[in-house]
Amino acid sequence: MAVGAVPVSDPTLLADIRKYGKFDPTGCYQCGSCTLSCDLVEKDTTFPRRSIRFALLGLRQPLLASLDPWVCHDCGDCSTVCPRQSEPRISMITLRRFLSARYEWVGIGRKLLQSTAWYLGSLIAVALLTLVAIIGYHLWYVAMPARDFATTPFGLDHMFPMMTYYTLAVILFPMLLLVSRVAHIWRLTMRGDGRSHIPWSAYFTEAWVYVYESIAQTRMRKCPEHRRWFGHEVLAVGTLIMINIKVWGLRWFQTDNIYPIYNPQRWVGYIASALMLYGIAYIMVGRWRAKKEIYKETHFQDLVFPVLLVLTILTGLAAHVLRYCGVALACHYAYAMHIVVATPMLVIEMSFGKWSHMVYRPLALYFLAVKDRATQHAPAGEAVPNAI
Ligand code: SF4
Ligand code: SF4
Repeated sequence: MAVGAVPVSDPTLLADIRKYGKFDPTGCYQCGSCTLSCDLVEKDTTFPRRSIRFALLGLRQPLLASLDPWVCHDCGDCSTVCPRQSEPRISMITLRRFLSARYEWVGIGRKLLQSTAWYLGSLIAVALLTLVAIIGYHLWYVAMPARDFATTPFGLDHMFPMMTYYTLAVILFPMLLLVSRVAHIWRLTMRGDGRSHIPWSAYFTEAWVYVYESIAQTRMRKCPEHRRWFGHEVLAVGTLIMINIKVWGLRWFQTDNIYPIYNPQRWVGYIASALMLYGIAYIMVGRWRAKKEIYKETHFQDLVFPVLLVLTILTGLAAHVLRYCGVALACHYAYAMHIVVATPMLVIEMSFGKWSHMVYRPLALYFLAVKDRATQHAPAGEAVPNAI
C-alpha cells in the first residue's frame, strides 16, 4: 500500500476470495502464535497474518499488492499451533489461488481456478482436441485410409518436423503466457500509486535472487520437513531435464534407432523419469496418508499435476519399452496416449495450475529483495511503493 493513500474497504472481497477455496480465519484474535511458529519470519513480525488481515478488512488493493502468500511455503506449522483453529496455512493457499487468478489477464484462469468442473472439463477438452488432431493429421492431412491408420506400425519419427513444432508450441505457449503476466504482477505489487518509484538499478542488482530462488528454493529448505525440500528439488531437476530434452533434442530423443543401454540417449531419459517419479511418489504418499498438517485438505488442483505427470511418464516409458521389444503397433498407441496426456498437462496445468507457482514464488522473493534494497537506499522521507 502506498504511503499516504487511504485504503478503501470492499465488502465483496471476502466472498470473492472464498470462491477459490476455504478461507475461514474469522476466529483469529491476533495472538501471534502463527508468526512465532513460522520459520520464515525474519524481521517482519506481521507475517503470515498481514495478508489474511487485508482480506478480512476488505482491503482489495493492499491484498493484490501483497507478496506474502508467495513467501509461505505451506509447511502447516502455523495451523498446528493456532489456538483458534483458524488454519492460516489453508488461508494462504486460498489467497495464492485468488492472486493467481488476478494475475491472469484473459479471465480464463478465474473460471478454471474457481470451478473443479471447468478445470476438469478444460483438461478433457484439450485431451480430446489433441486426439482429434492426431487422427485428423493422418486421415485428412496425409489422406491415409482409416484401416491403414489403425493397423500400420509407423516409425516414431514419422510425424517430424510437424511434431517438433507441436512440442515447441505446447511448451512455449504456457511459458510465454506466464512471462506475459510478470508485467501485470509488477504493476500490482511494485508500482504503488506512481508518486514514488523504485530505481531500475535495484532490479538489476537483485536479479540473481530470481535465478537463485528458482533453483535453490531456500524458503522451503527452512521448513522443518527437510525431505519435502529434497523431494521438490528432485522433481524440479527431473522435469527441467525432460523439458530441455523435448525443446532442444526431440529428434535425438524420440527416434526409431535402437541404442545400447550405456548410450546417453537412453540413460538421460531414465534418470529424468526416475527423478520425477521419486518426487511425485514422495508428494502423493504424503497426501494419501494425510497425517501431517501440510498434507491435510488436498484440493482437486493439488492432484492434477502429479497425476498427469505420472501418466505422461508411464505412457512415455510404455512406448519406449514396447519399441525395444519390437511391438511397433502397440508402441504407437502408447505414444499417441503419451501426447494426449502430456498436452493438457502442459497447456492447462502449466499455464493456470500449481505449476505456475514455480514462476510466481521466486518472482515474489525477487520483488521483495528489490523493495528491501530500494528501502535501504531511499533518501530520507521518500516512500518505496507498497513497502510496509
Ligand atoms: S495463531 Fe491463529 S489466532 Fe493466533 S494470530 Fe495466528 S491465525 Fe490468529
Ligand atoms: S504454512 Fe508454514 S511457511 Fe506458511 S505461514 Fe504457516 S508456518 Fe509459515
